[in-house]
Amino acid sequence: MNPFDEELNQRLEALRAQGLHRELRRVDSPQSPRIKIAGTTFLNFSSNDYLGLANHPALKEAAIKAVEKSGAGAGASRLICGSLAPFHELEETLAAFKKTGAALTFSTGYAAATGTICALLGKDDIIILDKLVHACIVDGARLSGAKLRVFAHNDLNDLEEKLMWAKKHIQHRKRVLIVTESIFSMDGDTAPLREIVMLKDKYGAWLMVDEAHATGLYGEKRRGLAEELGVGSRIEIQMGTLGKALGASGGYICGSRPLIDLLMHRARSFIFSTAPVPAAAAAATAGIQVVQSAAGKSLKEKLRSRVAEFQSAIRNLQSAIPSAIIPLMIGDETKAVDLAAKLREQNIFIPAIRYPTVARGAARLRITLTAAHSAEDVAELLAALNTLKP
Ligand SMILES: *Cc1c(COP(=O)(O)O)cnc(C)c1O
Repeated sequence: MNPFDEELNQRLEALRAQGLHRELRRVDSPQSPRIKIAGTTFLNFSSNDYLGLANHPALKEAAIKAVEKSGAGAGASRLICGSLAPFHELEETLAAFKKTGAALTFSTGYAAATGTICALLGKDDIIILDKLVHACIVDGARLSGAKLRVFAHNDLNDLEEKLMWAKKHIQHRKRVLIVTESIFSMDGDTAPLREIVMLKDKYGAWLMVDEAHATGLYGEKRRGLAEELGVGSRIEIQMGTLGKALGASGGYICGSRPLIDLLMHRARSFIFSTAPVPAAAAAATAGIQVVQSAAGKSLKEKLRSRVAEFQSAIRNLQSAIPSAIIPLMIGDETKAVDLAAKLREQNIFIPAIRYPTVARGAARLRITLTAAHSAEDVAELLAALNTLKP
């Protein structure tokens, strides 16, 4: 073997030894509550397709129509070769959905985060992150060169300390940006957005909230947790993905017209990247339309029922703001992998989430429930989990 491959194999071996080895499991079915892997059908509790829209007829039809009308590919960056109609329809739909002045879409949520943070901040600015924010926000913060401070997860006192520090160290005309998620991706808990909004106002900071796991699921109009907590209009930068509850793919930023115009000029992940396929934009638009309809409301309620069924059986408690993300904390990486394998033997598919997705020694089985699951599916999951108990 050549020295290059030999060295990489050694690195992979080290990952294996730590229980951090991963593999791609080929799925021969759509994403749905049942997925087919190597001829076996699994009950799927792994996806972020919270409302079951990824395989919804309305989204599929929108994607097919967009291919017929706008083609398969987008040609270039939207600033170079013209910007296909489905992207404009999507951004108008998004801005109306979120009740913001404007919206801009990116190829992924990851690209939205890195592009936006780097467009807004430079090396003399300060960025303050919740300890548990998603990797794309951490990467955006590092890439921006801004001074980075991290506050303990959901800890308002620590956040205020970091804001006081920033106030002392920030230069004239430089900015402080706070970034948090609303529903945390790997823990399913909730950021105290009202209090964070009060703090950012008190210190004159900006706030960016990543609603990746809340868009479509919270609030009267299902805009997200910011709507549910009544602070939607007080957050400068509302970010999210089109690939989770909205059933399609892509990332978005919603906010004021000047924010969106600036991003169009300065977000490198937007400027220097070919536009996504028009089918993705059309599917996302259809996803938002479903979410906004009466069907979206009943899907949200159905998901709430599944979460309540699961929580009452497992924890015998209801959280104040329920989430479809339910982590079963294991700790040890190898043990989490073994438990996931045991569940697969019972045809239940749940991922063992490990470093670097979560901290070392904080491995977990991350269960996600969706509106497409039935009460029987949840009962089957509970029965399988019971067999794992010592
Ligand atoms: C999934 C996720 C993203 C990235 O979105 P993609 O569209 O998958 O790139 C960003 N933030 C959080 C919290 C996420 O869970």
